[in-house]
Parts: sequence; C-alpha cells; structure tokens
Amino acid sequence: MADDSQKSYFIHTFGCQSNKSDSERISGDYAARGYVEADDWRTCDELVVNTCAIRQRAEDKARGFLYNVGVFFNESGKQRPKIILTGCMTHHGQEKLYKMIPIIDEILPINEVGFNQSTVRKDLKHAWIPISTGCNSFCTYCIVPYSRGREQSRSLESIMTEVQDLVNKGFEEVTLLGMNVNSWGLEKLGIGFRKLMMENKNYTREDLPDNQSQYLKPTETPPFVKLLRAISEFDQIKKIRFMTSNPWDFHDELIDEIATNKKIDRYVHLPIQSGSNAVLYRMNRGYTTERYSEVCRKLLEKDPEIVIGTDIIVGFPGETEAEFEETVELAKRMKWKVAFVAIYSPRPGTASWRIYPDDIPHAEKKRRWEILDEICNKSTMGERPIIV
Ligand code: SAM
Repeated sequence: MADDSQKSYFIHTFGCQSNKSDSERISGDYAARGYVEADDWRTCDELVVNTCAIRQRAEDKARGFLYNVGVFFNESGKQRPKIILTGCMTHHGQEKLYKMIPIIDEILPINEVGFNQSTVRKDLKHAWIPISTGCNSFCTYCIVPYSRGREQSRSLESIMTEVQDLVNKGFEEVTLLGMNVNSWGLEKLGIGFRKLMMENKNYTREDLPDNQSQYLKPTETPPFVKLLRAISEFDQIKKIRFMTSNPWDFHDELIDEIATNKKIDRYVHLPIQSGSNAVLYRMNRGYTTERYSEVCRKLLEKDPEIVIGTDIIVGFPGETEAEFEETVELAKRMKWKVAFVAIYSPRPGTASWRIYPDDIPHAEKKRRWEILDEICNKSTMGERPIIV
C-alpha cells in the first residue's frame, strides 16, 4: 500500500512485446527509486507513455490518448502528472515531438531503458527476456532500424543471469525477444544502409544491400541455437518461446533444435509479409516464397506437431492484383495458425517511403486486408498446411 508521501507512476504501453518488456524495465527503475505503481493514469504523479511507430495508426493512437489526458486534466481542474514519452515515436527527435505534442514534459530515449535494468513483472510464471535490441534488416517499409537503431545483442552472461534470477523466483516460461532473434550473437559487418540513405537521397532499390550482407555467416552452430540449449539446461524452465525470426537466416540447425528440444514451444512465428517474390524483393526481405516454404516444410517434416503463424502486409506500393493473388494462394495452402495482416503504412524516412509512391488506394488496401483476414484467421483455422 502506498503511503501519502510516496510518489506514484503509471505506464501506458502501446505496441509490441518489446515495448511491453521495456515497460517492465521502466517500472523496475521507478520501483528502485521508491515509487509505487498507481491504479490509474488519472491519479499518478508521473505518467509514462510508451509509444509505437510501426504504422501511422499506432502513432495516432498515442497522440489521441495524450489528447484525452490533456482534456481530462483541463476539465477536472486536477493537478496533472508529469508526462514522459518513450518508445518508438522518440525517433522523431525532441524538437519535433515537443511541438507536435505540447503536453509532453520529458522524452526518454528507448536506448536508455537498458537490458540490465531490474523489472517489475505482472505475470509470475512467464517472463519476456530481451536478447537483442534494434534491427539491421532494413526491410524497406520498416521504421524499426531508425526508431530502435542498429541491432545489438545482449551478452550471454547478462541473459543467463536474468534466467537464473527468474528460476530462483519460480518462473517456468520465457519468451526471448528481438527483431530478428536468429542473428543473436552473430558478428555484424555493418553495411552502411543509413549512410547510403543520408548521402544519396536519390538511391533506388538496386542500391540497397540485401539484409543477409549485414552478418558474417555462422561457420559453426549459430549462437542463437547455443543460447536455446543453454536456457534449456535449467530444469525449472519448462517452456521457451522466441520472436521474431526471419526466414532467410532460419538455419537448419535451428530447425533441428526446435524439432528435438521439446522445451521450445511448438508454435513458430515466421513472418512472410507477401506471397509474391516481386513484392518481397521491393520489401528487401532477403528471401523468396520458395525459401519460406522450404523452412516450413522442414519444420513440419521433422515435427508434425509444429504450428506456424505469420505477419502479412497488404497494399505495399505497386502491389498488383496478380501479386496480391499470389499471397492469397499461398495463404490458402499455408493455413497459418494465426496471421497478423497489416495495411501498408508509409513511414517517413524509410526506403519504401522514399523510393515508391503509396499508390494503392485505402479502400483497395482494406478490401485486400479483409480477404486475407478471412482466409487466414477464420476459414482455414485448425487445418494442416499443404506445402508445395
Ligand atoms: N522483426 C519482425 C520482422 O522482421 O518481420 C517484425 C517487426 S514489426 C514490429 C511487426 C510487423 O509490423 C511486421 O512483421 C510487419 O508485418 C508490420 N509492419 C512493419 N512496418 C509496417 C508498415 N510500414 N506498414 C504496415 N505494416 C508494417
């Protein structure tokens, strides 16, 4: 129970699991400073808004929430809390953000949240564990490499210390988080996407290096597989999940590890984004639908209990009806367990925003979204994939 002199905080979190995990660490920082968590943003001393920028709609939601916060305190006459903005919207920079959302008092850059910060967790059985931050993939549509910066792997020692601590506290399930967990611990070559983009505003898709070129190919067991094995050594850990994986570096050893290590969850999340190779090329995803199917086929051949889910973007620039149909056909065959279908949202600063006009009308994007959502999430649920 809070005594009256104790200051309180409240965190409103938007977006993905990485944001939820960051919020647990921000809570840890508040707890270490003697704050207590308030039940409601209307009654706290400090309000942290952890934002998402993956689509325009996500940014609009955060702005809408902050607008409502402003209205509430204006109308009620109550003292409003200190408002701190963090998360992926911080990539806009301080100057723009203070102008855009004047109610903000402070901006907390996400890279200051840190891996080693203690956490306050609501769930006492399952824990999110960040194993890397940032992203080097530079998929042309994606804001993450700009909002979260370059990929940085957390050290093995730091991850294992956290797992040991979780085990001591009685946790049994962990989910390892990273934008591309497969590349955890791999040596980075640091191909200068950003430099290229800053120096040459007129670059084309052909100028972009493939995302595979960012890493040294593992010559032995990939470090991520070794990490999975090390965490599995704890008897008390019963279930291990991870997200997200990229199809292009889903190595055979990872497939074998999933198939044989039954502590790893049988659900594998593997974003495809499009069923058209031409669109995948424009997205700079670094794989073809054939490669995607090969990974899925190997997984299912080795363990038929495995189920696969995915992410898809509809209405990517230039997506023709025929290209969309390729995604529809693939969806009918793959029968994903779950598919997060998103409408393409141009993100200022990204390569697709610079190179391609956002030329699919919103009504058409919505039509495509509805078709795929129906196929993936309603009509084929529970059926087995037919991988050709
Ligand atoms: N790192 C993962 C990957 O490479 O597939 C997922 C990253 S992202 C946080 C989650 C999903 O948001 C993506 O898989 C993609 O489907 C969707 N997404 C990302 N950028 C988008 C954009 N500009 N418009 C629409 N959807 C987008």
